[in-house]
Amino acid sequence: MDKKVITRFAPSPTGFMHVGNLRTGLFAWLWARKNNGVFILRIEDTDKKREVEGSIEHIKESLRWIGMDWDQGPDIGGPHTPYIQSDRLDLYKKYGEKLIEKGLAYADPFTPEQLDVWRKEAEENKKPFLYREHRPENPPVWDGTMPLRFKISEVRKYSWTDIVWGELSAGPEALDDFILIKSDGYPTYNFAHIVDDIEMGVTHVMRGQEFISSTPKYLALYEALGATPPVFATTPPVMGDEGKKKLGKRDGAKDVLEYRDEGYIPEAMMNFLALLGWNPGGEKEVFSRDDLIQMFSLDRIQRSGGQFGDDKLDWLNKEHMKLLPREEIEKNILANLPENMQNPKIVPIVFERISKWSDVHNMVGELQFFFKTPEYDKTKLIFKNTSGEKIKNNLKFAISALEKIDEDKFTSEEVKNILMLIAENLENRGELLHPVRVALSGLDKSPDPFIISEILGKNETLSRLQKAI
Ligand code: GLU
Repeated sequence: MDKKVITRFAPSPTGFMHVGNLRTGLFAWLWARKNNGVFILRIEDTDKKREVEGSIEHIKESLRWIGMDWDQGPDIGGPHTPYIQSDRLDLYKKYGEKLIEKGLAYADPFTPEQLDVWRKEAEENKKPFLYREHRPENPPVWDGTMPLRFKISEVRKYSWTDIVWGELSAGPEALDDFILIKSDGYPTYNFAHIVDDIEMGVTHVMRGQEFISSTPKYLALYEALGATPPVFATTPPVMGDEGKKKLGKRDGAKDVLEYRDEGYIPEAMMNFLALLGWNPGGEKEVFSRDDLIQMFSLDRIQRSGGQFGDDKLDWLNKEHMKLLPREEIEKNILANLPENMQNPKIVPIVFERISKWSDVHNMVGELQFFFKTPEYDKTKLIFKNTSGEKIKNNLKFAISALEKIDEDKFTSEEVKNILMLIAENLENRGELLHPVRVALSGLDKSPDPFIISEILGKNETLSRLQKAI
């Protein structure tokens, strides 16, 4: 039987849950869920200088919002508790000592100034600076105050398979003695993530392209620790709207929770993120959470960048909104309208015009006319070069016809039937329909005037037409 799939998302608490980062985590989550595996959330907080307070909460909230539940990690616990790296320092130390015993790690006694001198020398000689060419002959005993370095024991070419990129290899120049534990006692990312991936039994590692060049180092370390490396699946970058440049904060790459606050639906966001660099094949683009789990596969992750487009996100969001129960749509729309506008009758009109809940706010001004007799310049009532007299007559005619409808039968269909009967006999239908629209809404472009009249009711409709006359 195959080994149970174990994946992890290992963000650093640097204050911002970038969509590209979450997308990579989503791939790990989907793969775990698809295989009935385990998804771990691990917080990589070993770079204390970059840490931003409150980020861990922020990460958890982002995952919860989008629906990426974790089986092990903060708040949940699990067999490898704790899941925050700064609480696991003893473990890294133990691994460091194990490597020292094997002769595969040593204390680095040199000052940063000394390293700088060597670096400059290498630069002058147009050679890459390699620490391993300056290894101390008799390194001091490691007491934790000096950095601990990994000793690359065999400088050679490494080859490996990446699910997305196929066969990869890198020569000896990619290998150098790198720091395992810094002088502040914290491990480097390079060391900590490998210790944790081994301890936690991670089977698949999904991460961005920036880690490819370091993979030979990681392989050397797995070897030194006597561990089998996981399967690597390198995820493509998320590109800005034009598809040229990696999406950065400056291009308006937003924090994931900003999308929540703007009223996007989490399931739509998940759908959108899944398509950034993964191609399910076929025409279909709208997927539920369960669809995504079922269809996700590593071999359909793309090499080239997934393109982030707000229009696409809005379109997908609307498609997901349409799948919601009617009551939920109504509840969300009304909740975003001011109290005096919370009339369920306008819900369909609003819904047609939005692609996320916060769009409702933009419509408040436009829809005021439902609740307040509109003010408008009377010349607006004139259709093309029809005379004012003619417009007035048409409106009078309309009023007398509409008066005959019973108040409780004043529906948009009924109003439409009657007004169209009159309009069809005019030279141009606009000679009636245009002034009716303006009289009811104050706007040249408005929602369907027949629907407006039903919502306004018989009395208000007639009184607005009268006012126009
Ligand atoms: N903490 C790393 C980051 O946020 C994780 C990379 C990885 O998944 O190994 O970039």
